[in-house]
Amino acid sequence: MATSTTEELEALLMERSLTDSQLLEAAEGAADFRILPDASVIKIGGQSMIDRGRAGLYPLLDEVAEVRKQHKMLIGTGAGTRARHLYSIAAGLGLPAGVLSQLGSSVADQNATILGQLLAKEGIPVVDGAGLSTVPLSLTEVNAVIFSGMPPYKLWMRPSASGVIPPYRTDAGCFLLAEQFGCKQMIYVKDENGLYTENPKTATSPTFIPRISVDEMKERGLHDSILEFPVLDLLQAARHIREVQVINGLVPGNLTRALAGEHVGTIITAS
Ligand code: ADP
Ligand code: MG
Repeated sequence: MATSTTEELEALLMERSLTDSQLLEAAEGAADFRILPDASVIKIGGQSMIDRGRAGLYPLLDEVAEVRKQHKMLIGTGAGTRARHLYSIAAGLGLPAGVLSQLGSSVADQNATILGQLLAKEGIPVVDGAGLSTVPLSLTEVNAVIFSGMPPYKLWMRPSASGVIPPYRTDAGCFLLAEQFGCKQMIYVKDENGLYTENPKTATSPTFIPRISVDEMKERGLHDSILEFPVLDLLQAARHIREVQVINGLVPGNLTRALAGEHVGTIITAS
């Protein structure tokens, strides 16, 4: 049944279960609306970029300062090595995923604080919880904001089937923000050219994969490699962000090219 008016939808919502299939179909009927269609979300990797300190960050942030004259960006932070250290201590103490999630968030927050200091002279603010209240104004004024990449699930983090490491971390947090805001694109800035057949840090002859779908990644056993694996399912279920690009942030110019829509790393597609 094609329901088009608010009244018809309301009638269904009042009387049916909220998971009723007809109700869900009717609720889906509205045309998609993108809140921030001109903005791109970029995630700056924690372990891969921020933990490199000045060697990794100074050139990248110079590029950010320049490229934001052309492109609007929401810049999310990863957590990285300090979070892994915290996870190992907390997991060893038997603490649950929800507590580890809070610990990981605090490290992504620290990294947002660091980027905020480094980009302060550009007028780029750190926004708390990616608060929509200040994001639109900042995007209009300076074309960029910095946010802490961890999704704010905290104690309500849905535990993974195995182990206490929070499954939704900063790759997922940044993706969800891009999807919810209906952003133009999602770019992951890490320290490899993209996805390879094996981890290039340890394999002897990995082959580069320029483009791959989520299903192919799963078939080839690559689902737990360059992105947190739950991101693949989020991508397949997404309505706005139907592909993401992973690029090497250690190569000058890559971010600028990717923001312009060029294919410089690995593009992972929903289908
Ligand atoms: P972030 O800093 O954003 O958290 P990660 O360190 O989690 O990034 O992920 C990037 C790393 O993933 C790369 O440095 C690389 O060592 C690793 N990796 C594992 N498997 C692969 C693969 N098949 N292709 C590319 N990178 C891989
Ligand atoms: Mg990671």
